[in-house]
Amino acid sequence: MNSTTSAIIIGGGIIGCAIASELLRAGVRCTLIDKGALLQEASTAAAGMLGAQVEIHHPGHFYELCRWSQQLYREWTEQLQRISGGVSPQYINEGILRTAWDEEDERELRSRLGWIQDAEWLEADGLRALEPAMAAGIRGGFHFPNDHQVHPVHLAKTLQAALYKQGCTIREWTPAFGLIERGGRIAGVRTSEGELLADHVIVSAGAWSPALTAPWGIELPMFPVKGQCISVRTDAPVTRKTVFTKGCYIIPKQDGTYLIGATQEEAGFDKRCHVSAVSALHAKAAKLLPQLAQAEFVGTWAGLRPGTRDGLPFLGAPSKAPGLIVATGQFRNGILLAPATAKLVMQLVTGSRTELDLTPFHPDRVLAAAVD
Ligand SMILES: Cc1cc2nc3c(=O)[nH]c(=O)nc-3n(C[C@H](O)[C@H](O)[C@H](O)COP(=O)(O)OP(=O)(O)OC[C@H]3O[C@@H](n4cnc5c(N)ncnc54)[C@H](O)[C@@H]3O)c2cc1C
Repeated sequence: MNSTTSAIIIGGGIIGCAIASELLRAGVRCTLIDKGALLQEASTAAAGMLGAQVEIHHPGHFYELCRWSQQLYREWTEQLQRISGGVSPQYINEGILRTAWDEEDERELRSRLGWIQDAEWLEADGLRALEPAMAAGIRGGFHFPNDHQVHPVHLAKTLQAALYKQGCTIREWTPAFGLIERGGRIAGVRTSEGELLADHVIVSAGAWSPALTAPWGIELPMFPVKGQCISVRTDAPVTRKTVFTKGCYIIPKQDGTYLIGATQEEAGFDKRCHVSAVSALHAKAAKLLPQLAQAEFVGTWAGLRPGTRDGLPFLGAPSKAPGLIVATGQFRNGILLAPATAKLVMQLVTGSRTELDLTPFHPDRVLAAAVD
């Protein structure tokens, strides 16, 4: 790629940062702008599961995208860690146990047996042999050995250090107010610090993305989905693997804490935490792992997942706005999907064939649905 090719990336969450890093590796000059500091929204509120199996309820294009990203993850994080000068994203290669408490949940899980990959069905005894701290009363469930995890706050540090080393131009506290058109193409961004121009403009502004595309007739039916989490600590280790049941997961982190997540609420852009929600989460976690009942409280926080009405991300170049690429709407799976999304955007920018067919994720699908 000609090193004079340039891109502006709007939104410095994990998706925007991953795209910038991948484009810089491909020789594209990048300016990354954020309305606040980098990596302070959903991307560091996240739990960090790389849950290509646990999170997906149906086979299809989205499942294939998640699985591909999961396969890329280890090498992607190792490469970032090298570029960053050794900042670890705390990758943990322990899997996830997805347990069922009731008959209906068990039936739903078992219905995945026909298509789910990298999964082993275990009865209650088998699950408790892997994690003896689990309560009696669980019915059975999946062991997903390849659904590993990272620590999103540490991954953010790795990415940020890598971007500095790669020579990314980073403009924090610089909101994008609108896109600029020149000669029939999107050619830049109006920001609080003036106009910025580039060959490609990428919108990766998470739950805030639709405000930037709507003035160009590109409707992205998206909404923020609030997730509240808590962190607790115990005197002795309780589990090595992530333990997940309907409505609650417990993730052991490298520092000895357990992340318990997460609520799923449509509450606009409100990120306040509520005692009722976090105490209900803790009660669910302690039902599954009774030793957590007496855990020390460490903290609570909330983030806004970028949700879409059809549950699929928006990834591609809208036909109404040449020069523009949209990469958003990863909802519950943006940490997992970062490497695949970054690679696909790099392939769009450099004019290469994308490794995956983007038709199911194309932003134009909304137009097509309106015409049908
Ligand atoms: C509680 C919780 C748990 C989760 N757990 C997991 C998990 O285990 N695994 C997983 O894969 N995913 C998980 N997710 C989902 C994941 O966090 C998101 O899908 C992902 O972080 C989305 O990344 P993003 O970069 O698109 O958005 P964000 O991180 O929200 O970043 C968007 C950025 O755009 C900036 N921005 C917005 N508007 C503008 C503007 N006009 N100008 C400039 N900048 C702008 C914002 O300031 C922000 O920094 C979880 C999310 C939550 C909330």
